[in-house]
Amino acid sequence: MSVLQDQWQSLPEKAVRRLQAEQLGHYLRTVVLPFSANYRKVFQDLGLTADSIRTLDDLQKIPFATKSDLLSTPEQPQRFKDFIVIPDPKVLARRPSTIMKGLLHGRAAVKESFESEFRPIFMTFTTGRSAEPTPVLYTQRDIDRLTTACVRVIEICGAGREDRLLNLFPFSPHLAFWLTHYAGIAGGVMMLSSGGGKVMGTDGNLRLVGKIKPDVIIGIPTFIYHLLHQAVEEGMRCENLRRIVLGGEKVSDGLRQKLIDLGRELGSRQMDVVATYGFTEAKMAWPECPFPHGKSSGGYHLYPDLGILEIVDPKTGETLPPETPGEIVFTPIDARGTVLLRYRTGDCTDGGITYAPCPHCGRTVPRLVGDISRRSEVKEMHLDKIKGTLVDFNELEHVLDEAPHIGSWQVELRKVKDDPLEMDEIILHVQKTNGVGEDQLKRELRERCFRYLEIHPNRIEFHTSDEMRHLQGVGTLLKEQKLVDHRPKMPEVAKNGVNGRHSAHVEALSGNGAKTSV
Ligand SMILES: [Zn+2]
Repeated sequence: MSVLQDQWQSLPEKAVRRLQAEQLGHYLRTVVLPFSANYRKVFQDLGLTADSIRTLDDLQKIPFATKSDLLSTPEQPQRFKDFIVIPDPKVLARRPSTIMKGLLHGRAAVKESFESEFRPIFMTFTTGRSAEPTPVLYTQRDIDRLTTACVRVIEICGAGREDRLLNLFPFSPHLAFWLTHYAGIAGGVMMLSSGGGKVMGTDGNLRLVGKIKPDVIIGIPTFIYHLLHQAVEEGMRCENLRRIVLGGEKVSDGLRQKLIDLGRELGSRQMDVVATYGFTEAKMAWPECPFPHGKSSGGYHLYPDLGILEIVDPKTGETLPPETPGEIVFTPIDARGTVLLRYRTGDCTDGGITYAPCPHCGRTVPRLVGDISRRSEVKEMHLDKIKGTLVDFNELEHVLDEAPHIGSWQVELRKVKDDPLEMDEIILHVQKTNGVGEDQLKRELRERCFRYLEIHPNRIEFHTSDEMRHLQGVGTLLKEQKLVDHRPKMPEVAKNGVNGRHSAHVEALSGNGAKTSV
């Protein structure tokens, strides 16, 4: 085990940066450049070798990777495959370490160890451009890395062996669910995964809460809020509850406070709310440590041995010094499967990275501090999050305009019970054009929305053409309204809190169209 691995939570900045550069150099030399088709070419074209990267400042020589690099084009229909590390058996066979291993343990053992290192066996998908989700592949070695990260999440969040965990993330091929699942297994902690609202509904999840009396609940903020709110309304008790771990969406201070209040109403004596931040391409997430109510979060605790986070100027791409706001860029150390170097997340932090010891837990790890938000360009591309899934409005328009048997349409966004902290609701208003049955059309539209956009409308309502014209404001507004947002604004108390520090989202998450009993 290297010093960086062994002492990952107690090294000063200088040592972290030196050791990270060393390990990255070794990783580039022995894995990425020999076995990644994409990076072999990129380095060749730029006249770079692994030796060109000697310090973390040298990272700037490597071009960024972005989400669009993974998207297929007509010329390259399997673009994501260029980013998978595929070993050349001849190169491996010539290595002294391979020969040594063969002599000591035999050929079969060598073959097996390479299989476990390089053969992809697991994947999660990115969301967003939902028409074409892109896979990020893991080998057994990546699962081991994920497991290491998971144990740290459990440790930093402060869950213990005796705790019972309830995982409310939806069953899906997205990072958040699997990371939580592996965290339970790797941490040796009792965990129940309910699949969230979509699988068991609010009532089913409430029954589970009543039955297993969880100490820790993990999931998407809006769904947890919805569930606890319902639990309070039904007069339930959950005295054990002492921690809520959030992922998948931004978390405002207002929501944190509300969750703490709900915990209290359920009989919890001391409850902490901690958030996590991660994304599909990192194959991991980073947690906050618990901190006293009313104090600022210590930020997301990074694992310096598993990857390098840089903060860059979102406009120029220039690397910025510690504690400077900017865009988050990630480079893995020692990953296999899908490997992206200097992956631009599009997420910006207003606090940057700090190397100072955490004021709450005392760990000396790089920490991502401040409020994290998505790059404004994302908005310009008409992307927005509905029910935790990024939805491209252009695509939505396309999908509904081309749906058979309907004329004009409108998508209305609301909140459950018009409570600003509750879950999003999607109501699809449509005008039927011919004699097809309403039930059948509803089924078809639901299927279409999910297939192309990964969203589930909560209700579909049929209207006459006059009613549709009225809804869309035809004749009274300059432009017909195809997307209306009737979600109430945050109440003042919660809004004040949003200026604060904490936010998180695991972009990897979606499909959390938690079923309400509407
Ligand atoms: Zn801490």
